[in-house]
Order: sequence, then structure tokens, then C-alpha cells
Amino acid sequence: MQSMADISQAKRTLAGRTALVTGSTSGIGLGIARSLAAKGADVVLNGFGDAQEIEILRANLATEFGVTVGYSGTDMSEPDAIAAMFEEHFGKSEARLDILVNNAGVQHVAPIDTFPPTKWDLIIAINLSAAFHTMRLAIPLMRRGGFGRIVNIASAHGLVASPFKSAYVAAKHGLLGLTKTAALETAEEPITCNAICPGYVFTPLVEHQIEDQARAHGIPREAVIRDILLAQQPNKRFATVEEIGATTAFLCSVEAASITGVALPVDGGWTAH
Ligand code: NAD
Repeated sequence: MQSMADISQAKRTLAGRTALVTGSTSGIGLGIARSLAAKGADVVLNGFGDAQEIEILRANLATEFGVTVGYSGTDMSEPDAIAAMFEEHFGKSEARLDILVNNAGVQHVAPIDTFPPTKWDLIIAINLSAAFHTMRLAIPLMRRGGFGRIVNIASAHGLVASPFKSAYVAAKHGLLGLTKTAALETAEEPITCNAICPGYVFTPLVEHQIEDQARAHGIPREAVIRDILLAQQPNKRFATVEEIGATTAFLCSVEAASITGVALPVDGGWTAH
């Protein structure tokens, strides 16, 4: 019979792996970092926030799951800073990078004719170009380590559009193209590259959208949630960050080795329409 220690050890299927999760100081990224750490992976967190709060988050994650947790405050809109982060955290010859989760993302909601060009550039830089910059540096490290899992957090908006989200929809559609290209380039190697396409997940990003949409449409926030956000989501509830974390951890498993190049909706049926 298996002891409790055996059972909890068996769950640590990512022990010995190292993961970088961009945008993991909050929301979905933090949920993903927690799911990977729970499976035994060492994690490098990234994202913005209060330095003291992030240090508490980092230390608690390490203690709770008995893994090594690092942190980089790199701005993912800056290609040179991304290269410096890789040099700092993965530059040594013995360093591993087994799992890369491109999750950092921002949103801006406005019609195309009044969409600020600076917002367009920023959204494309963080939600799309950053994934290219991390992947170009991560793939050689994965080749060297003999194992790689790239998970790009796209969106249902990578598969279908909504009005007023031109930059976000364009970036997420682009991210799916990048995902498929990387999957093909690594298909004969022990590396996979997939995208997850969440519908609405309740996080600070969605909270901001509720406020923005309420302003754009001139309606109360309850109406935004019921009639706009969840109007497209047939199961009529927000997904949780734990659900996205668990899906990511599955795609990072050995058992998911034949899954590559997919865009996996986790959207309560939204894109089944
Ligand atoms: P969030 O705002 O809660 O978290 C975003 C994270 O990205 C934070 O850690 C923030 O510090 C970080 N970040 C922002 N700009 C950054 C930058 N320039 N450099 C580094 N880090 C930066 O958002 P979320 O809702 O958790 O979204 C995470 C991802 O999931 C995004 O890519 C988003 O598009 C995607 N997504 C979210 C939903 C949803 O309903 N929440 C649905 C589909 C897809």
C-alpha cells in the first residue's frame, strides 16, 4: 500500500523542473505559478507590484510547496530587459529552463478610431512580442536540458473578436500563430508549445475591464458582467485561476508529450458558438 508520503511525492510530477511564468505577481499567472510549484517545480516569478508584498508572496510560495522561488521585475515590453532577465536567471551553464509560461498581458478597451497608438504598441509588445523574445531565448535552453514545455496564455479573443479590443484581439490571434510555428519548429524534439484560450476568469484585469466597459457603454457594472462579459460565456460563470493553473500543469506533464500546436479553449463553451 502507498503511504501518504508516497502519495504526496507522486503528485510532485514536476519535481526537478524549473519554470518561468511571466506576469505571475497577480491573477492567472500567480494561479499558474502555484499549480506548478504544487507539482514540485522551481519557479521564477515575474511581474509588477509592491516590492515587499512580492517578497512575501515569493517566500510563502517557496515555504508552502518546498520549492525554490525566484523573482524578476523585468518589464516584458522591453526586449533588452527580457534578455537581461534570461542572463541573470538562466545564464549559467548548469541552469535549467524546462517550462515557459507566457502569461503577462494588459488590456485597453476603446473603438479603433479613438484607440491611443501608444496603447496599441504596448499591448502588442507585452501580449505578443514578449512571447517571441522569451521563446527565442528559452528554446535553446530546453534543447540543452532535453525537455521543454511552452504554454502561451492567449484568450478566447485569440479565436474570436469582440468590439473595442482591437489591439488585444490582434495580439492574441498573433500569439496563436506564434504558438503553432514554434510547435512545428520543435515537433521532433522533446519540446511542446501550446496555447490556452481562457474565457473570462475573475482577476484584477477583468475588474478593470468591468470599469472600462461600464464607462464605454454608460451602464452599471452588474449589467456589464451579465449582459456583456458573460453574455458570450454559455456556462455563465467566471473560470477560476486554479482551473487555468491545472490546465497549464497538465500541458507541462510528461503525459502531454503528443499535444503540441493546439489552442485549448477553457471558456465555458464561448467558442463553441
Ligand atoms: P492581471 O492584471 O491580474 O495580471 C497581469 C500580470 O501581468 C500581473 O502580474 C502584472 O504585474 C503583469 N504585467 C503587466 N504588465 C507587465 C509588464 N509590462 N511586464 C511584466 N509583467 C507585467 O491579469 P490576468 O487577468 O491574470 O491576465 C493574465 C493573462 O491571461 C493575460 O495575458 C490575459 O490577457 C490573459 N487572459 C485573461 C482573462 C481573464 O478573464 N482574466 C481571459 C483570457 C485571457
